Formats: sequence, C-alpha cells, structure tokens
Amino acid sequence: MGRIRREASIRSFRGDAAGALDELPHAAMSLLEETGVARDRLQGIGVAVPGLIHQESGTCVFAPNLAWSDVPLRARLAEAFGVRANVRNSMQAGAIAEARVGVGKAVRSFAWLFIGSGVGAALVLDGKVFYGKRGYTGEIGHWPVVPGGVLCACGRRGCLETIASNEAIEALTARRWAEHHPGPGPTPPIDAASVSAAADRGERFAQEAMNEVGEHLGEAVASLLNLLDLDLVVLDGDVVRAGSYLLGVVRASTASHALDAHASRIALSTVGADAMLKGAVFLAMESGSVDRFVSHGREEA
Ligand SMILES: [Zn+2]
Repeated sequence: MGRIRREASIRSFRGDAAGALDELPHAAMSLLEETGVARDRLQGIGVAVPGLIHQESGTCVFAPNLAWSDVPLRARLAEAFGVRANVRNSMQAGAIAEARVGVGKAVRSFAWLFIGSGVGAALVLDGKVFYGKRGYTGEIGHWPVVPGGVLCACGRRGCLETIASNEAIEALTARRWAEHHPGPGPTPPIDAASVSAAADRGERFAQEAMNEVGEHLGEAVASLLNLLDLDLVVLDGDVVRAGSYLLGVVRASTASHALDAHASRIALSTVGADAMLKGAVFLAMESGSVDRFVSHGREEA
C-alpha cells in the first residue's frame, strides 16, 4: 500500500443524499487539486458506506444511520470523473483492509466484526469477500439474541445490536452503575470505550456490563464458527480497542457455545483506527481492473 497523501472531512449528509451526490465530486476534486494530482491521473474511486450496497449497481439501497435510500453513488461518481468507482458496505471495506494489511492476511477465511453505533460484520471466505446474492451480507447486528428483548432500530426485538452497540453498552452500564451506587446523585457520563477501560481496571459495574455484552457477542461468534468453520474472527471498534477484558469474555463465551472453538482464533484488528477508510483505498486501487474481492470471479460492470 502506498502513502495517504491527504485527508479531508466534510459534513455528514444524514438525511441529505442529494447533497452528498452533489458535494462528494467537488470534495474529491478539491483533494486532487490540493495534492497537485492531475485529474487524468485518477485511476479509480473507492467508497465505503454504512448501509446496504447493491453489488451490481453500486447503489446504496438503504443506510439507516444516514437515512438514505436508493442513492446511485457509483453512477454519479463515474459520471463526474470518467473512472470506475467501487462502492461497498463499510464492513466489507474494513474486511478488505484486514485481508490486505491486517491480521486477516495470514488466513483464508475470517469474519470481521465491528462494534460502533451499530454492530456489523463482513465475511472473507476462501480468500474472497462473500457478498451474497445482492451484496447485503454481514448484518449480524440484527441477529435475534434476546427473545422479546429491547426494540431495535430495524423494528424487531432483541437484536444483537440492542445489547452490543455503543449506545446499548452505555445504557446497560448506566443501569449497572446505578445498582452499585444507590442513593441520590446523577449517573456520570458513560461512553462505551471508557466502560471497557474501567472493566480492565477491575471496576465491578463495568465488568458486569462487559460480561453481558461479551456473552452475547460470544454466542454470535460461536454461531459463525459452527456455520462457517473460520480460521479467525477479527473484532474492531473503540470498545474492543479500549480494553482487553471484553475480548476475554467473548473468547470464554465462544468457547462455551461453539462445537470446536479451539481450532479458531479471535483477535483484534491490526489495521488501525481507520480500517474502513483504508479498505476504500484498496477498492479504489482495484476499481480499474478486475476486483479481486468479488466472489465467483465476476467482474464489475
Ligand atoms: Zn435489528
């Protein structure tokens, strides 16, 4: 991989897909100008989006956290720049980076699990990202884990995301904190990463929250291993980076639920904090030729 020459952040386009389609080409153009790279040297564009991406068309069909539906990202970028754009779900982009420069490099089959504002996954099977029929694989956050549990953003109850997303971790920890600190007084501000760190320091309320979260994550990991016989499961996200206690719980839970967990490893991502962004760069590098990560050897249209 080369060197990232320049980065820029622009506003969030939540609820404003039309704005994104208008502004993204300008933002990319400005980056080229600032970097002194002539436009005709641009060979490809890679995009990672947190949502369902239709594989054939490169359209974002639905992105709940952005409130987008049917956004033709690939078509618009290809039209603006005259080069191919590879658009993927951000989990798939993260897994591609892990497969290229992370801990996934050494294995043929792994799952990539990210814990953030939601819980998502991507699968690399026999050396290729598994996209499924349309590209919608990896929605592990909506695996039902608690029958009749908390209402999820998807409209169903008890999804993994209602237990293990950052927001869910924070709500759960607030309840455990209150049990350990009865009496008046406000609950301190809690964020998922600091809960993870507090569990490492031996704070009981944080360990209890992490025990519950890790137990359910381990059940999900065990199901993945039973189903797919993976070499490795990679975890990423602030909460797993901030401490090692949670990883220990996930490993113990997986061992107790999987038929043969000993054959598989559970490890933290080694790509760094911006795996999905790096994955998008790999997608850009591959957009001018056959995408190595398309399953069934199918070339992009
Ligand atoms: Zn759900």
